[in-house]
Amino acid sequence: MFLRIDKLPVELPMSPEIDPVAARNVQELLGGRFGEMSTLMNYTYQSFNMRGRDQIRPFYALISNIAAEEGGHIEIVSAAINSLLNGPRQGFDDSENPGDAPWKDLPGGALGGHYIAGGQTALPVDSRGMPWTGDYVFSSGNLILDLLHNFFLENGARTQKLRVYQMTDNPAARTMLGYLFVRGGVHAMAYAKALQLLTGVEMSKMLPIPNIGNATFPEARKFMEQGSHLKLYHFSNDFKEAATIWTGTAPAEYAEGVAGDFEFVDAPPTGGPQVDLAGIASSFAPNYAPQEIMEIANKLYQKAKDH
Ligand code: MN
Ligand code: MN
Repeated sequence: MFLRIDKLPVELPMSPEIDPVAARNVQELLGGRFGEMSTLMNYTYQSFNMRGRDQIRPFYALISNIAAEEGGHIEIVSAAINSLLNGPRQGFDDSENPGDAPWKDLPGGALGGHYIAGGQTALPVDSRGMPWTGDYVFSSGNLILDLLHNFFLENGARTQKLRVYQMTDNPAARTMLGYLFVRGGVHAMAYAKALQLLTGVEMSKMLPIPNIGNATFPEARKFMEQGSHLKLYHFSNDFKEAATIWTGTAPAEYAEGVAGDFEFVDAPPTGGPQVDLAGIASSFAPNYAPQEIMEIANKLYQKAKDH
């Protein structure tokens, strides 16, 4: 079963402009082969399908716990896309008249589906607009092969994030990217440590892929200085056994000058507020004239508070 927390893993700055091109490129990190939907579903299905889990409990706990974190990564990538599509709008935006074809001059590189299907919000698709598919899930039944795949998946995800970083300087996108460079680094290192325990092969010597450090990027360095690269968060009352893998001192080439010991934090991250999206009249979201819906919602909310 799952619990849900109404927060983002970290606070995102509001996008200073409406930026549909960046929103489209960030979609790759949500619904692409190496996107967060893939990491979530790979680790989730591997954990659902794991045999002999009581005998291999630390590895089961590690994959299950990281799967839960990936749920929050889907949420923060979606929130970044939403922020990029929303821009700095606050309050209900009725500045666009549908009769004036307000979207006829969207920039080349915008994804029409963001406007047509999503009402200017994230979609479970990649940067080409292709839907995420279960074909991206690898769950072989062989623990070492699954862990090796997960190590590859985290590094593939990192490569693509680094490329998207080069396509935008929008702070809503880059804050999300900086955070996920660091968290992806934790996951790659955790899978490397698990493989090392099982096989003796020093997988961690292959990090980072590509061979450029997280600390190079100020948006990532900020989170490293908060120790995020050393922390594996615990998203459950169960799965504590993951702590037995996430121990020891961070290797110097991984720590990049922000040294320390690996730490299993017995809680999820503190988190930050959700991105609050303004209503948009031209998207009919929530409605062209939303007053009635808001009045009904307000009455219900008052009732709930009075109880
Ligand atoms: Mn992730
Ligand atoms: Mn990950």
